[in-house]
Amino acid sequence: MDYVAPTTLEEAYRALEAEDARCLAGGQSLVAMMNLGLASPARLVGLRRIEPLRGVARRPDGGLRIGAMTTHAELAALEAGAAGPALLAQAARVVAYPAVRAWGTIGGSIAHADPAADYPVALLAAGASIEIGSARGVRQLAARDFFRGFFETALAPGEIVTAVHVPPGPAGARAAYEKLSLVAGDFAIVSVAAIAGPAAQVAVGGCGPTPILSALADLGDDALLEAGRSIAAASDPPSDHRASAAYRRRVLPELLRRAVRGAHPRP
Ligand SMILES: Cc1cc2nc3c(=O)[nH]c(=O)nc-3n(C[C@H](O)[C@H](O)[C@H](O)COP(=O)(O)OP(=O)(O)OC[C@H]3O[C@@H](n4cnc5c(N)ncnc54)[C@H](O)[C@@H]3O)c2cc1C
Repeated sequence: MDYVAPTTLEEAYRALEAEDARCLAGGQSLVAMMNLGLASPARLVGLRRIEPLRGVARRPDGGLRIGAMTTHAELAALEAGAAGPALLAQAARVVAYPAVRAWGTIGGSIAHADPAADYPVALLAAGASIEIGSARGVRQLAARDFFRGFFETALAPGEIVTAVHVPPGPAGARAAYEKLSLVAGDFAIVSVAAIAGPAAQVAVGGCGPTPILSALADLGDDALLEAGRSIAAASDPPSDHRASAAYRRRVLPELLRRAVRGAHPRP
């Protein structure tokens, strides 16, 4: 296997033209897959030395531009003001445990698109968009259009996630992220991200190949539980070693209620 470590995006795009070439970010998913024999790229294109992929920039409106190589630990430590950035920081704090958070990156996580991962859920609820670069130029895609299926994204061959853009969210809105897992540090059984002001935008993870996005107008407890039951009935959760589909459907309504209550304590 060939390993290259470009210092510019242009070099990285050229390096990705080789057959079976793959980006390497924090290695927390890809190296594990290689160890298990589930991936065997002919070339790894290391992204760590590419400066434009690093750093978090605050936008004048309170939103963020997050470089793809920003680690979970860096996002977890973020002093978030507005609801959108606050939601991302909350999600980052419950990704895995410190060793994984020190290496894993937001770009790697969303390119991997694990249906139980934390960022996709937070990014949909926040109305974020994904910046994607390639030798052909740069394009930006809404997060809801980026995640296409089970470990499947809208990335085309040769494309690199370069950044994530997170808007501030509505004025006065607040954010909360609820994650149910078997033990702290594990992937979610079900998770719910919420941004709430007078109304709420929620996304549910772990209940289908991609997060489920929903807008809620009535934030009373009964209405939230009812909305959760409707989402659960329409969802397609997996049954796996963590939980059955029936269990996921059962816990979803209460998790949704807690997430919205966490963001918006009094309706
Ligand atoms: C023990 C353990 C527990 C975990 N628990 C959780 C959890 O609770 N919640 C959670 O969300 N995640 C969890 N993870 C996954 C973790 O968040 C990984 O860091 C993440 O999935 C991959 O990020 P990475 O930077 O390590 O990417 P890598 O492993 O380097 O790459 C992953 C994939 O993305 C591609 N890629 C990487 N960067 C880019 C880019 N910029 N553009 C295009 N393609 C790219 C690679 O080619 C590869 O296919 C866990 C991982 C481990 C090992």
